[in-house]
Amino acid sequence: MQYRSTRGGSPAVTFSEALLAGLAPDGGLYVPTEWPRLAPEDFVSGASLPEIAHTLISPFAAGDVLAAALGDITADACNFPAPLVPVGEAGYSVLELFHGPTAAFKDFGARFLAASLARLRPAGVRPLEILVAASGDTGGAVAAAFHRRPGIRVAVLFPEGLVSPAQEQQLTCWGDNVRAFAVQGSFDDCQRLVKAAFVDPALRRELDLSSANSINLGRLLPQAAYHAATALAVWRREGRPASFVIPSGNLGNALACIWARHVGLPIGEIVLAHNANRTVPDYLSGQPWQPRRSIATLASAMDVGDPSNMERLQALYPQFATLQAAVTGDVVDDAAIRRRITADHAAYGRIWCPHTATAAEVMARMPAARKAGSAWVIVATAHPAKFREIVEPLIGCAVPIPASLARLHERPTSKEPLAPQLDALRRALLATAHTAGAPT
Ligand SMILES: *Cc1c(COP(=O)(O)O)cnc(C)c1O
Repeated sequence: MQYRSTRGGSPAVTFSEALLAGLAPDGGLYVPTEWPRLAPEDFVSGASLPEIAHTLISPFAAGDVLAAALGDITADACNFPAPLVPVGEAGYSVLELFHGPTAAFKDFGARFLAASLARLRPAGVRPLEILVAASGDTGGAVAAAFHRRPGIRVAVLFPEGLVSPAQEQQLTCWGDNVRAFAVQGSFDDCQRLVKAAFVDPALRRELDLSSANSINLGRLLPQAAYHAATALAVWRREGRPASFVIPSGNLGNALACIWARHVGLPIGEIVLAHNANRTVPDYLSGQPWQPRRSIATLASAMDVGDPSNMERLQALYPQFATLQAAVTGDVVDDAAIRRRITADHAAYGRIWCPHTATAAEVMARMPAARKAGSAWVIVATAHPAKFREIVEPLIGCAVPIPASLARLHERPTSKEPLAPQLDALRRALLATAHTAGAPT
């Protein structure tokens, strides 16, 4: 299996080359050059999530150096459950993706990528340096996933004072091979520094830099696995496809679901729930593609005004009419997020994070006939305990903290201050570049 850039300006690569590169050299995103076909019967009945992930991803890694290790990699990545839970009398189910180490769905993708990259580093070579700017839940998930992976070091950059205390704890509690840099600047400064580091000749000469951002193929494919597992469970139980409402920002999770349907899983409708950043819903309604600056909302991990995975969606559906038939989208503003959190807690005893609440709201707005036509699933992307400041006043009681997050909050923290200049980052990274890569 080979991967090509969505922009067509760089050579095709193998599965593991795409994982190591992240972005294609021409700035495009990697997509498969051909599509595998899978049917429900290709999946062993009663298979676990890691086994379903293995069956689903195998054709995508066919012929690659990682193919033989894929069973171990999916077992490592999907080592926590993704239960499908009916929601009271509401007539739909919720796919809970928040049972991982940092209580958000990004744990699946980050762990798959980490397990893969760790196997691509031959012993004795200099370590791989993963650089990430923390935004949303990405920094914590990546730090957790790469912690103590031999042959890999991680630098997480976050804006000092601009992340919540809980977020900061999750970025700074790792140590060992994970360094957290508190940048004296904004989120944009962190992003700019990371981008500048990748093209800095001195750093490129001295370090093997890699990114772990959400456009990496290695983060997308495992996300297709839980949509596949859900669709298979519904198919075997009810003999009909599952339809999904997915809280969306950069469209990674939604695209993974679309890919799962494209290879043959029994998936019906796919609905994108966006916050007030309405670039995608506006486009789907027939307006020109108009990326814009992101606006801050309660569902902050979805504050994306220029979703990069749209390139992959357009690569899959070059005809606009086909794309429009493949997905629909809706916009949920902050007031509606607040009302939905309060209402569903009162009606069903369920507590949503602000992101999941966008999907619950889209579901609540759905006409009865459309709702009855499918087995509907809303995707819960994060645990509400990550957003207690927002959620608790709306429901009037405390959100129980899951054991995974409680464990993170007991760990000691450390961070290094960093001036928002490339020069400072260069010095910080090179200072430790030649010390042993493998953590103890
Ligand atoms: C990242 C994130 C999203 C958005 O997912 P995309 O793949 O970027 O569309 C939604 N909810 C939560 C909690 C997230 O962390």
